[in-house]
Amino acid sequence: MNKEEQQVQESRRELLKKLGLGAGAGVLGLFNSSSAQAEQAVPSYAKGMKPIRIKSVRAIGTAPQGSNLVVVRVDTTEPGLYGLGCATFTQRAEVVVTAINRYLNDLCTGKDADNIEDAWHSVYTSSYWRNGPVLNNALSGLDQALWDIKGKRAGMPVYQLLGGKVRFAVPCYTHANGRSPEETAEDAKRIMERGFRYVRVQQGGYGATAISSKPDFKTAGFANEKDQYMDQVAYRKSVPKLFEVARKVCGEEVELLHDIHERLDPMDAIHLIKSVEEYRPFFIEDPFSPENPKWFQMLRQNTTVPIAMGELFNNQNEWKEAMVNQWFDYIRIHVSQIGGITPAMKVARLGEWFNIKTAWHGPGDVSPVGHAAQCHMDLATWNFGIQEAVSFNEKMLEVFQGCPTMNKGYMSVNEVPGLGVEINEKAAAKYPITNNAGNWQVRKFDGTLVRP
Ligand code: MG
Repeated sequence: MNKEEQQVQESRRELLKKLGLGAGAGVLGLFNSSSAQAEQAVPSYAKGMKPIRIKSVRAIGTAPQGSNLVVVRVDTTEPGLYGLGCATFTQRAEVVVTAINRYLNDLCTGKDADNIEDAWHSVYTSSYWRNGPVLNNALSGLDQALWDIKGKRAGMPVYQLLGGKVRFAVPCYTHANGRSPEETAEDAKRIMERGFRYVRVQQGGYGATAISSKPDFKTAGFANEKDQYMDQVAYRKSVPKLFEVARKVCGEEVELLHDIHERLDPMDAIHLIKSVEEYRPFFIEDPFSPENPKWFQMLRQNTTVPIAMGELFNNQNEWKEAMVNQWFDYIRIHVSQIGGITPAMKVARLGEWFNIKTAWHGPGDVSPVGHAAQCHMDLATWNFGIQEAVSFNEKMLEVFQGCPTMNKGYMSVNEVPGLGVEINEKAAAKYPITNNAGNWQVRKFDGTLVRP
C-alpha cells in the first residue's frame, strides 16, 4: 500500500466512525462498487426527504373582482399535499388555461415535485418555441405552486426558504387619482392618513385620457368608437403641475410616484422627467416602451430622477444589459409574466450587485396567490424597493382565504407553511372568467395607435 492508498483507507475509517457504522461496514462491502449496498448504508439523515411526485396540474379560472384570474393547482402523490400558483394573464386568460390543462399536466405528471429548478427549465424549453406571455404565465403557476408545496413540506412560510426576513413587513404605495391636480392631491392626503408613506399620483387614469377632448379620428369615424384618446401635449403639461400641487398639499415627507405607461415619444418623456426633478419623485415608471431600451442612456445623462421599468419584460435575460448599464433603479417585473418566483428571485439577487431594487408589479390582475408570492420575496430581499398595495373586495375574500393583508401602509403574509393562500373552488366557480379582455387601444388625435 503506498502513501496515497493509506490516506484513503484512513479517511474511510474516519467516515465510518462518524456514521457510527464501525469497521464491520468494510467487511459488509460498503465501499464495494454495488450502489444498492451503498444506498442501504447511507444514514436516514443524509438521504433527504422521501421524494414526492406531481400527480396532476390544472387551472382554476375565476373573476371575483372583475379581472380574469388564473391559478394553478398542483397535486402530489402525498395525499392532501398540493400547491397553488398564480398564472394570471388577464387579457388572454382562456389561452393560459388551455396551456395548463392540455400541456402542463401531461408534461409534469410524474416529475419530482421537489426539483423546482429542474421543473422550471424543463417546462421552459419543452415546447422549443418559448418565452411568450401565455407559456410564461402557465410556467409561473407551476413554479409558485411548487414553492408552495416546498414550504408546506418544510413546515415554513416561503420567505424562510428564500433566506428569511430582512424586514418585519413590506412598505407599499397605493394610487391617488383625480380629474384635476387638486383632486389627486386630496386623494393622496386621504391615503397618507391611512398610514401610507408612498403614493402614486395620476390624473385622469392612464395616459390622462380623461383630460382629453373629443379627437378628430372619432369625428372622422376612424377606428373603433370605444378606443381611447390621449392628448399627449395636455398630458405632458399636466404632470409638472400635478407634482407641484401634490407637494404643496401633501408636504415634503411623502414619497410621490408616477407612471408614464410608455405613452410618450422618447424625447418628450425625457423632457417631462427633467421637469419634475425639483419635486423629488420616488420614481417615474415606464418612460419608454420595452422596444426602445437605448433611450435610457440619454435619460440617465440628463436627470437624476429614479426610474422604474420592466412590467412588459418577458424574460430574466432582458435585465442583464439594463443592470450592467444601470439604466434604471427599480425592477418592475410582472412576476407571472417572466415565469414565477424562480426567475424573479434571480433578477432580484442580481440587482443587489448593482444597487437596483425591486418593485414587483402588483395590479388587480394578479391573484392573491401571486400577491402573496411577491410579499414573500419582498420579505426576504435586501434590495427591496417598494411594493404595490393590495385591495381585495368581499367576493375576492370569499374565493381566496389567507390573502396578504394591509396595515398602515405595510403588507404582511399569512404566517403558515407555503405561500399561505387557499382557494375555495366552489366560490371561484361562481365568478367565471370570460374572453372579454377590455379595450387597451389608445390613439393620438389623428388615430395613430399609441404603443404602451
Ligand atoms: Mg406601469
